[in-house]
Formats: sequence, C-alpha cells, structure tokens
Amino acid sequence: MTSNGGSIMEGGCTCRQLRYRLCGTPLVVHACHCRWCQRETGTAFATNALYEADRVAHLAGEPDVVVTPSASGKGQRIARCPACRVSIWSNYPQAGHAVRFIRVGTLDEPDQLPPDIHIFTSSKQSWLTLPPSAKAVAELYDLESTWSAESLERRRVMREKAKAQQA
Ligand SMILES: [Zn+2]
Ligand SMILES: [Zn+2]
Repeated sequence: MTSNGGSIMEGGCTCRQLRYRLCGTPLVVHACHCRWCQRETGTAFATNALYEADRVAHLAGEPDVVVTPSASGKGQRIARCPACRVSIWSNYPQAGHAVRFIRVGTLDEPDQLPPDIHIFTSSKQSWLTLPPSAKAVAELYDLESTWSAESLERRRVMREKAKAQQA
C-alpha cells in the first residue's frame, strides 16, 4: 500500500546484533493505539508494518522469541534481540505465524513507512491529535475494503501456502 520508491529497507536492534531486510512493500502499516501496545512500547502507539514472514530476511543474528500475554489471551510472540532485548517484530496468533508485524521504529529510515490506518483509537491518548486526512477506526477494520488489491492477493497466496504446510 505504501510506496517507498523501491529503496531497500533495512533495520535492526539498538546494539546492531540483529539486522534484517524487508523485501518489497508492506501489506499494510498499522498505528495501534490499544492499551497493550501503549504498555509494551511505553509510548502512545505502536507502528507495525505487516509482511509475509518470507519477505523478512534476517541478515545478522537470530532473535529470541518471547511469548507475551495479549488481549486475545492467546499470547503474542515477540522477536527480541538476545543481547539488547529490543523487539523487532512479532506474531499474533489470530494473523498466524506467516505474518510478521515489523516494528517500524526499528527501520534505519522509519519515515519510509507512515501508517495506512490508525486502529484502536477508542483508547488513543487524549493529547494526540491525528491529521484530519488519517484513516482511523475505533477498534479493528474490514480487510477486504481497506487493503489494496495487491495486498489481498498476497494474503490469499500466504493462506494457500499455510494450508499446504498444514496438510
Ligand atoms: Zn541488540
Ligand atoms: Zn495494539
């Protein structure tokens, strides 16, 4: 959905033990204003770029995956640097292991991926005013009417692959 001018997007943790490269554009970029994201980041919202797991190449280091309680009760798997403990991506069970929620703030140039949509604005911190043009929803949204046709097609392919792996 977001155009980045075809530039290579890389990022990593603070101590640089973990480095990754993203292949292509994200499926969608969320700014999540839920209380869980506020607590986990210590700030007003989390910005996550959704990518298929096979579009996230680990260039250096292997993350520790820490299971963290989540709103659904199923736990969020957060990939953290084994040394500095910064989180670089996570999986939510609802979306499946095939989708990685990349922490946009860990990119070398995070300005490349502004949010496509603000979610869970029902718990948005009151001092924060979103731009009038921003797409925003109180909680979750309908993928079919929000994602680009290309992203929906990529999602279909990802689901087919997941099914084939389970069979
Ligand atoms: Zn690190
Ligand atoms: Zn959230």
